[in-house]
Parts: sequence; C-alpha cells; structure tokens
Amino acid sequence: MHELIRQLLAELGEDPSREGLLNTPARVAKALKFLTSGYDANIDDVVNGALFTVDYSEMVIVKDIDFYSMCEHHLLPFFGKCHVAYIPTDKVIGLSKIPRIVDVFSRRLQVQERLTNQIADTIRDIIRPLGVAVVVEATHLCMSMRGVEKQNSFAVTSAMVGVFRDQVRTRMEFLELIKLRSVVSATRDSASTSLACMAED
Ligand SMILES: [Zn+2]
Repeated sequence: MHELIRQLLAELGEDPSREGLLNTPARVAKALKFLTSGYDANIDDVVNGALFTVDYSEMVIVKDIDFYSMCEHHLLPFFGKCHVAYIPTDKVIGLSKIPRIVDVFSRRLQVQERLTNQIADTIRDIIRPLGVAVVVEATHLCMSMRGVEKQNSFAVTSAMVGVFRDQVRTRMEFLELIKLRSVVSATRDSASTSLACMAED
C-alpha cells in the first residue's frame, strides 16, 4: 500500500520525498487499516457468548453511540451518533456489545443506509427480539467539505424491524426517548437513496 500512496501523492502534485511526507505512506496505510478493520471482525467473536436469558420484555435502549465510518463513494469520513433499541423475547445481549457491533460495520467502506440496516439485521439475527430499531445521524465530509448541498450534509437514516415497524406507539416511544420525533414515518423501506452521500457527484 505504501507505494500506491506515494504514487497518489505524486499524482496530486506533491513531492513524496520531501521531509514532511516521507512517513506519510506508512501512516496513511496504518490509518486505513484501522478504519477498515471491520472487514476482519467476526460478529460471533465480538459477541463472545454475552447473551443472557431474561424474563423481561421492556425496551432496551443504547443511545448516543459515537461512530466513525468512511463513505464508499469518496473515501471520506462520515460520522455521528447511532441509537439502538430492541424489545427482547427471552434473550438480551450485553450492553457493551452493541457499540462493538456498530464498530464492526462502521469500520468499513459504507453508505449510511446500509450501515443502519446491517446493525439492525445483526441484532435481530443474534437475539431474535420482538423488534429492533436503529437510527443513525451523521455528517458527511464528502458533502460538507466539498460544498455539495451543504444543508443536507447531516443525514438521518433508520431501520425499524418487527414491533418498531408495526406499532406506531412503540416507534414513537423510541423516537421520543432519543428526541427524534421527525423520523416518525421512516421505516427501513422508505428512508433510502437520496438522504446521505450521493454517488453521482
Ligand atoms: Zn461520499
């Protein structure tokens, strides 16, 4: 990867051999490896058996999970907060595991909509709850730095599964708890394509 980055610097009009850039290829390679380390992560290893049987059927919420990801269209960061809720049937997952699941999917080249769905689908598959809700709020540097549709560089996506999709009251309760009433009508089917970074630009 080092040689590719050296070539890229030259293509951009830089002198890769000047002092300040000498170690840049190594640093960029290391940073990119970390930012895409989600490809090597295995969900079973991450969860590591932290599933517990409970007699509890109230909503479990983990909100304001910080995440950092890279837009697959421009290789520029998008980042923000992720909010996750689920209603268990008979199993719960260790609370600290949810931010780690978010990391697995955010540390890849992504689009915000897919990231949102992957988090929801993974939690659904692991604990088979009555429902899962995921809301992601993010700023896209590919839009704000380039001045493209500045007003929309903040995007909100959601995935509502099971009771969160079928029951308005449950969905409202979740959105109320994360103070995001504006996504009321959003379900996994509606909030797609035009919201986040646009591939054509
Ligand atoms: Zn982008």
